[in-house]
Amino acid sequence: MSNPVHLTLFQEEANKYQATQYRTKGQGVKADGKVLLFGILGLILFAGVAVLAKTVSIPLLAISVLAIVLGFVFTAKSASGASKTVTCPKCKSKHALNKNVRKFMCPTCRTLLLMGSEPAPEPQFVACSYCGLETAVTTGHGNFLCPDCGILRQPDPSAKWQPGAKCLKCNTHNPAHAMVCMSCGAVQAPDLSSPEPGLKYDMDWKIGKSARGHAILATSYLMMTRDLHTSSEKTDSTLNQLKYSQMSLELLGKVMVSFEEVLCAPSGVKDTAQLGVEIDRVYGELIVWKSNCVSELMSSAVHQRKGFADNSLSAIESEPYLAARRRIESLVAGRTDQTYSLGRWGESLVRVKRNDAHGQITNFQGLTAEASRVKVWANNRSIPTPANV
Ligand SMILES: [Zn+2]
Ligand SMILES: [Zn+2]
Ligand SMILES: [Zn+2]
Repeated sequence: MSNPVHLTLFQEEANKYQATQYRTKGQGVKADGKVLLFGILGLILFAGVAVLAKTVSIPLLAISVLAIVLGFVFTAKSASGASKTVTCPKCKSKHALNKNVRKFMCPTCRTLLLMGSEPAPEPQFVACSYCGLETAVTTGHGNFLCPDCGILRQPDPSAKWQPGAKCLKCNTHNPAHAMVCMSCGAVQAPDLSSPEPGLKYDMDWKIGKSARGHAILATSYLMMTRDLHTSSEKTDSTLNQLKYSQMSLELLGKVMVSFEEVLCAPSGVKDTAQLGVEIDRVYGELIVWKSNCVSELMSSAVHQRKGFADNSLSAIESEPYLAARRRIESLVAGRTDQTYSLGRWGESLVRVKRNDAHGQITNFQGLTAEASRVKVWANNRSIPTPANV
């Protein structure tokens, strides 16, 4: 199923993220900031003195040059000095990192490595006490969020998890922050805001996921699109509704990025067909919603008079889910059990013409056609979509 030559969208994203991490050995832009600061200081000194004295002062020129050189020395030191060598427990490759780096993606095998401030850390695979996911972590790392199930974990695998809410489906008592109930498999109501001080659902967290973790995340995102839909109903402005529908489609793009990970997993993950049908159903709902919003905008007096402020329409021209969806299409094409491929996704569904600071929708036939097609697809499978296209 997986093509060894082409990276998945998520792998591309992770590599890009890792390249930044690796260039600065996890130090980010802090070191570059110092160069800039010293460089600017040096130039100001040099220029200021040259203007004031109307001549070039050799001692001050020397100080300026020294400031610039110091900046570079600081950067070099921060990038190469005070480093630690970390061995990836999966592929055994070694990496020299700044001693303060706590999270790092092994560039060879894309394993997430979690470290503390130990001088010679050797991350070891430790299983999650709730979902069993193995994560490479050193004993000094401290608390972290399980990449798959989301619970608060410690490097010590025997540490007890904190109790949290009951499962929405089977009523079992789950750990705090659990994104999934391990008793019945139900994904819980997602809240991907900051869970604990200092901890985030960030890119490192995503990199640590297995295919099962991506399936859980995709389902969480799908649930969040539903919440967005509900929030949008509280706003009476069609333009605002349109923004919500666009945000939902962006979220749907993320769903498909994770779904690609699920489909490419060599182990295979159960219930991919169910997740696929759900993605199609949500897409259908969103596209019909967007189509309703656009036709309402078109018929409004404001639009007919002079259109809307340019930036308020810019979002509707893009189809943020499309690139990810194309990947899914190519992965499931030709499968005999193709129960969930809607296929033939349109491009440039809405066209906007701009004059002065205003934009006017000139054509949305693509969107109407797409909404109609989705409705036929849904009717044939008895899947409910909003009625009024
Ligand atoms: Zn590795
Ligand atoms: Zn877990
Ligand atoms: Zn349950």
